[in-house]
Amino acid sequence: PSTATVTVIGLGPMGQAMAAAYLDRGYRVTLWNRTASRADALVERGATLAATPEQALRASDLTVLSLTDFDAMYGILEPAEAAIAGRTLVNLSSDTPEKARAGARWVTELGGTHLTGGVLCPPPLIGTPDASTFYSGPRAAYDTHRAALEVITGKTDYRGEDPGLAALMYQLNMAIFWPSMIAYWQAVAVAGAHGITAAEIAPYATENFAGMGHFIDFYAPRIDAGNHAGDVDRTAMGLASMDHVVHTATDAGVNAAFPEAVRDVFRRVVEAGHGADSFSRAVELMRKG
Ligand code: NDP
Repeated sequence: PSTATVTVIGLGPMGQAMAAAYLDRGYRVTLWNRTASRADALVERGATLAATPEQALRASDLTVLSLTDFDAMYGILEPAEAAIAGRTLVNLSSDTPEKARAGARWVTELGGTHLTGGVLCPPPLIGTPDASTFYSGPRAAYDTHRAALEVITGKTDYRGEDPGLAALMYQLNMAIFWPSMIAYWQAVAVAGAHGITAAEIAPYATENFAGMGHFIDFYAPRIDAGNHAGDVDRTAMGLASMDHVVHTATDAGVNAAFPEAVRDVFRRVVEAGHGADSFSRAVELMRKG
């Protein structure tokens, strides 16, 4: 049988790692990137740099897109529209569910097949067995290309036919990931103001994050049941506690905009008359917009 082929368009840190993973598995890899030089190391390893996006598409039945957002796809592929028919595009670029649906429609109307993906690992974990990616779009395309998708991350999580679903699941993860990491940076800045390094607090931060699962497991069924009883925590306590976090930062001369925004959430819950309820009550307030 002929060697498996794949095209990778977009060679940021993620696309480079993906192309490298395909080369590791013996795929024939074709590349295209706006900044051609980012392909250099991969070409040295045997990948082919296409002269145009159209040539890149035509080189494989399967093209993986790893771009900053979905708009970048149109800029790159509009001049190559004629080559989309009959091919499968796996778009692993981050964007909103609506943008993913519109992108899938555009590809489908041109006669192509579109799978949306949301990769849940950083570049160094691409190609490893435990890393995972959300997918959604035509089930048949997912099934057909599953082996190739599992080169990117060993685990794949197919969410359904709606091309927006993988994007949604990815965005939910990012809504947790980015603010959580910024919370850690905040703690690092305050620690630093006291001469304590990031490395010194790393084990405590790791333990803190590891313990989050217990809180999520505890609160999730209560939130779904509309139970915000203040039996284990009261928002009035949370407000006082966040106030201490804000002042610990400002006393150290550290910017407190982020903890102030969190304190604001607690304050709104208390001002709405729910100070004696759990801080999970904040979900209800957020739902009202
Ligand atoms: P980057 O934003 O660093 O790189 C993305 C690629 O998009 C580059 O090849 C860049 O080209 C290209 N690009 C951006 N805008 C345009 C445009 N207007 N026209 C043509 N090309 C464009 O992203 P990453 O590689 O870090 O990530 C790729 C995707 O994966 C993103 O959507 C990201 O959210 C997601 N992701 C990233 C993770 C990470 O840890 N890095 C983890 C999980 C998901 P050029 O080289 O010319 O600038």
